[in-house]
Amino acid sequence: MPAQAPGKYYGSEPRPFPNELLAFSWAALAQELGVTEDGAFNMAWIAVDRHVAAGRGERIAFRFLGEDERRSELSYRELAQLSDRFGNALTALGIGRGDCVFLLCERRCELYVAVLGALKIGAVVSPLFPAFGPEPIRNRMAQAGGKLLLTTSSAYRRKVLPIREQLPALQHVVLIDDLGAGPQAATLDWDSLLDAAPDRPALVPTAAADSALLHFTSGTTGTPKGALHVHQAILSHYATARQALDLQVDDVFWCTADPGWVTGMSYGILAPLAIGATSVVDVGDFDAVRWLTLLEREGVTVWYTAPTALRLLIKGGPGLFAGRHFPALRRIASVGEPLNAEAVAWAEASFGQTIRDTWWQTETGAIMLANTQSAKPGAMGRPLPGVVAHLVRRRGDSAVDGLESPEMLGEKGEEAVGEAVGELALETPWPSLFRAYLGQPERYRACFAGNLYLSGDLVRRDADGDFWFVGRSDDVIKSAGHLVGPCEVERVLMAHPAVAEAGVIGKPDALAGATIKAFVTLKHDVVASEALRSELLAHARRQLGPAVAPREIAFAECLPHTRSGKIMRRLLRARELGEPEGDNSTLE
Ligand code: ATP
Ligand code: MG
Repeated sequence: MPAQAPGKYYGSEPRPFPNELLAFSWAALAQELGVTEDGAFNMAWIAVDRHVAAGRGERIAFRFLGEDERRSELSYRELAQLSDRFGNALTALGIGRGDCVFLLCERRCELYVAVLGALKIGAVVSPLFPAFGPEPIRNRMAQAGGKLLLTTSSAYRRKVLPIREQLPALQHVVLIDDLGAGPQAATLDWDSLLDAAPDRPALVPTAAADSALLHFTSGTTGTPKGALHVHQAILSHYATARQALDLQVDDVFWCTADPGWVTGMSYGILAPLAIGATSVVDVGDFDAVRWLTLLEREGVTVWYTAPTALRLLIKGGPGLFAGRHFPALRRIASVGEPLNAEAVAWAEASFGQTIRDTWWQTETGAIMLANTQSAKPGAMGRPLPGVVAHLVRRRGDSAVDGLESPEMLGEKGEEAVGEAVGELALETPWPSLFRAYLGQPERYRACFAGNLYLSGDLVRRDADGDFWFVGRSDDVIKSAGHLVGPCEVERVLMAHPAVAEAGVIGKPDALAGATIKAFVTLKHDVVASEALRSELLAHARRQLGPAVAPREIAFAECLPHTRSGKIMRRLLRARELGEPEGDNSTLE
């Protein structure tokens, strides 16, 4: 792979969106998805039953791959029928519109059936990450007043039984009997419930703006927030999967995120279903060999994953790829963390495919920016059709003052242009924009200024109009009069051949305000040494200049990540400074 100057295009040439993607309107899209004007709008119908009605019921919706190599498939028709049964069972239990249904189990068939069944009857679905312990489960369910929980017998015994008394709103617990232990007191059995339920359509006429999904954020910067989404969000899932992932009906799609995170719901369930594609679902956790084998053997065509997983593959060394071929793979996309240019070059050498970064948040519900039109390695890309992004600076010191009229950076207008660094702000509304932070109306209001949603992420827009991640507002370091985005420093460290991953924090300093410390993990065959430390310090100083380069570098075995794969800089900071660690519920 020839070395390329940063910022130059390589891999695929910049590609404009096809006209049909540019000329879309939300109304036209709704029509395309079969939404009629009677006001009824249900995302589960769009995702599943619509395909059955159109004669595509025999297509495979999900292909499940078990730990033990067992495979099973679920067609659109089967998914429609099973979700009807579960929806009817919920109705019989007195669960209805607006009631919150929690799901706590690994990525198995029942989870997918339950999501769609609950959506059909207008319940609000909140999937929990399956590795959560009792406290994060209790906390989230208590906040939302969850009325029903679907889980496995094993998870119930270990995690739910100890806290069940503390959840007065919880009326029913449905168990998938993974232990073969038979009935447990005060619970219902999944199989019996489904067997007894009628298989007539369960659909109720929900409206586009009815609540549908409750997702908790990753907790990277603090206590996770519950973000509420509505049925029409599926319009965004559908449009963005086509625009940013190029997902088509014939694709074999693999989204590696768990549905406990918004990515695993929006793109692991709803988007590929809305499109009518086949999704591969792997029950196992990350394992380099298993993942590469899966990509190869299942003929995955579109792969949506995260930088953390990619970096683990890089760390595994080139030997992992010996004798492997990925002829079916035609698109790789990434989300959740900055994607460094070296990872993109690595993918081009290893998979013969570039990686397209995508940026979005739990709050935005769907991809907003993507490296689709331009393929600048290291950039997040540009706003998707229908998305208008600005860079702003909040005025005044207090967040509220600043919100009154944030200063627009660069030129204003339909297409903001010009180089600038500022907080990424998006013009509202769009279908998958969140409608509330659970129990925190003030905090919700504080995310908006006029018609703008303020993302809390600092971003640089270059002269071509490509956006680059700088850092979260919370992580930005003020050092000797400079504002330093940790990602700029991390990007430079990761460009060194010895470094696998880097996490950068500010340490309070009487003189400079803060000094910069970096924690780095090394590639598989590299040994930490004083000489390497000096080399990395010098490399960073050369690239960044002395004001922005780290003063200290520590070698680490691994960095603290959220379970959704984000570096938790606030934990690096708290540990370094001996401060309380705060909410750790999402720590991997
Ligand atoms: P919390 O809000 O609880 O602190 P979180 O923001 O990490 O957690 P998510 O909604 O899962 O929770 O993550 C969204 C954030 O992830 C974005 O605001 C951004 O900081 C980061 N992110 C997402 N995509 C990218 C990307 N392509 N490049 C850089 N950062 C990204
Ligand atoms: Mg966030």
